[in-house]
Amino acid sequence: MDEYTFNPCLSCGICCTHFRIAFYWAEADDAPGGFVPAAMTEKLTHHMRCMKGSNDLPRRCSALSGKVGERVACTIYENRPTPCREFPAYFDDGTPNPKCDELRASIGLPPLPWHPGTLPAAA
Ligand code: SF4
Ligand code: SF4
Repeated sequence: MDEYTFNPCLSCGICCTHFRIAFYWAEADDAPGGFVPAAMTEKLTHHMRCMKGSNDLPRRCSALSGKVGERVACTIYENRPTPCREFPAYFDDGTPNPKCDELRASIGLPPLPWHPGTLPAAA
Protein backbone atom coordinates (compact mmCIF):
# COMPACT_ATOMS: atom_id res chain seq x y z
CA MET A 1 0.00 0.00 0.00
CA ASP A 2 1.59 3.30 -1.04
CA GLU A 3 1.62 6.44 1.10
CA TYR A 4 -1.18 8.06 -0.91
CA THR A 5 -3.50 5.20 -0.09
CA PHE A 6 -2.23 4.92 3.46
CA ASN A 7 -2.67 8.62 4.32
CA PRO A 8 -5.97 9.94 2.95
CA CYS A 9 -4.98 13.57 3.55
CA LEU A 10 -2.34 13.32 0.81
CA SER A 11 -5.04 12.74 -1.79
CA CYS A 12 -7.68 15.00 -0.27
CA GLY A 13 -6.89 18.54 0.97
CA ILE A 14 -10.48 19.76 1.00
CA CYS A 15 -10.22 21.14 4.55
CA CYS A 16 -7.45 23.48 3.34
CA THR A 17 -9.90 25.01 0.86
CA HIS A 18 -12.90 25.25 3.15
CA PHE A 19 -12.10 27.21 6.31
CA ARG A 20 -10.71 30.65 6.96
CA ILE A 21 -7.51 29.71 8.76
CA ALA A 22 -7.37 32.39 11.44
CA PHE A 23 -5.04 32.47 14.42
CA TYR A 24 -3.41 34.73 16.99
CA TRP A 25 -1.02 37.05 15.20
CA ALA A 26 2.01 36.04 17.25
CA GLU A 27 2.01 32.55 15.75
CA ALA A 28 3.62 34.16 12.68
CA ASP A 29 7.39 34.10 12.54
CA ASP A 30 7.82 37.87 12.60
CA ALA A 31 6.84 37.72 16.27
CA PRO A 32 9.16 36.32 18.95
CA GLY A 33 8.63 32.56 19.11
CA GLY A 34 6.33 32.57 16.08
CA PHE A 35 6.59 29.78 13.54
CA VAL A 36 4.08 30.30 10.70
CA PRO A 37 5.79 32.02 7.73
CA ALA A 38 4.53 35.60 8.05
CA ALA A 39 4.75 36.15 4.29
CA MET A 40 2.00 33.56 3.85
CA THR A 41 -0.34 35.34 6.25
CA GLU A 42 -2.46 38.47 6.16
CA LYS A 43 -3.78 40.73 8.88
CA LEU A 44 -7.39 40.25 9.95
CA THR A 45 -7.64 42.39 13.07
CA HIS A 46 -5.23 43.94 15.53
CA HIS A 47 -4.75 40.55 17.17
CA MET A 48 -5.56 38.04 14.46
CA ARG A 49 -4.06 36.90 11.15
CA CYS A 50 -5.12 34.29 8.66
CA MET A 51 -3.44 32.23 5.99
CA LYS A 52 -3.41 34.06 2.67
CA GLY A 53 -5.99 32.67 0.32
CA SER A 54 -8.17 31.35 3.12
CA ASN A 55 -10.05 34.64 3.43
CA ASP A 56 -10.93 34.78 -0.26
CA LEU A 57 -13.60 33.05 -2.30
CA PRO A 58 -12.99 30.52 -3.60
CA ARG A 59 -10.88 29.67 -0.58
CA ARG A 60 -7.56 27.97 -0.88
CA CYS A 61 -4.79 28.31 1.66
CA SER A 62 -1.67 29.61 -0.06
CA ALA A 63 0.41 26.93 1.65
CA LEU A 64 -1.44 24.10 -0.09
CA SER A 65 0.27 22.59 -3.11
CA GLY A 66 -1.17 20.14 -5.60
CA LYS A 67 -4.67 19.34 -6.77
CA VAL A 68 -7.47 18.81 -4.27
CA GLY A 69 -8.90 15.31 -4.48
CA GLU A 70 -5.82 13.96 -6.25
CA ARG A 71 -2.48 14.74 -4.66
CA VAL A 72 -1.78 17.56 -2.21
CA ALA A 73 0.68 18.67 0.43
CA CYS A 74 0.95 21.37 3.05
CA THR A 75 4.18 23.18 2.19
CA ILE A 76 4.54 24.45 5.76
CA TYR A 77 3.37 21.32 7.56
CA GLU A 78 5.86 21.56 10.43
CA ASN A 79 4.98 25.23 10.89
CA ARG A 80 1.25 25.16 10.24
CA PRO A 81 -0.91 27.30 12.53
CA THR A 82 -3.03 26.11 15.43
CA PRO A 83 -6.37 25.63 13.59
CA CYS A 84 -4.69 23.13 11.26
CA ARG A 85 -3.19 21.25 14.17
CA GLU A 86 -6.54 21.10 15.91
CA PHE A 87 -8.61 19.76 12.99
CA PRO A 88 -8.54 16.00 13.54
CA ALA A 89 -7.21 14.25 10.46
CA TYR A 90 -9.24 11.32 9.30
CA PHE A 91 -8.48 8.33 11.51
CA ASP A 92 -5.64 10.15 13.26
CA ASP A 93 -6.94 8.94 16.61
CA GLY A 94 -8.27 5.63 15.31
CA THR A 95 -11.71 6.97 14.52
CA PRO A 96 -13.07 8.61 11.37
CA ASN A 97 -13.60 12.35 11.43
CA PRO A 98 -17.12 12.65 10.00
CA LYS A 99 -16.38 16.23 8.96
CA CYS A 100 -13.89 14.91 6.39
CA ASP A 101 -16.53 13.02 4.43
CA GLU A 102 -18.95 15.93 4.81
CA LEU A 103 -16.43 18.33 3.29
CA ARG A 104 -15.52 15.87 0.56
CA ALA A 105 -19.17 15.41 -0.37
CA SER A 106 -19.51 19.19 -0.74
CA ILE A 107 -17.30 19.08 -3.83
CA GLY A 108 -18.39 15.68 -5.09
CA LEU A 109 -15.54 13.57 -3.70
CA PRO A 110 -16.46 10.08 -2.50
CA PRO A 111 -16.33 9.16 1.18
CA LEU A 112 -13.00 7.95 2.44
CA PRO A 113 -12.76 4.18 2.42
CA TRP A 114 -11.29 3.65 5.84
CA HIS A 115 -13.56 2.46 8.57
CA PRO A 116 -12.87 0.31 11.62
CA GLY A 117 -11.88 -3.17 10.50
CA THR A 118 -10.54 -2.08 7.11
CA LEU A 119 -7.21 -0.60 8.22
CA PRO A 120 -4.15 -2.26 6.72
CA ALA A 121 -2.19 -4.46 9.07
CA ALA A 122 0.83 -2.78 10.62
CA ALA A 123 4.06 -3.67 8.85
S1 SF4 B 1 -10.71 16.78 5.03
FE1 SF4 B 1 -9.93 15.17 6.40
S2 SF4 B 1 -9.02 13.61 5.03
FE2 SF4 B 1 -9.27 15.53 3.86
S3 SF4 B 1 -7.26 16.53 4.07
FE3 SF4 B 1 -8.62 17.35 5.66
S4 SF4 B 1 -8.17 16.07 7.47
FE4 SF4 B 1 -7.38 14.99 5.68
S1 SF4 C 1 -1.37 25.73 6.54
FE1 SF4 C 1 -1.22 23.72 5.61
S2 SF4 C 1 -2.64 22.41 6.79
FE2 SF4 C 1 -3.17 24.57 7.20
S3 SF4 C 1 -4.77 25.07 5.71
FE3 SF4 C 1 -2.81 25.70 4.84
S4 SF4 C 1 -2.16 23.93 3.59
FE4 SF4 C 1 -3.77 23.21 4.99
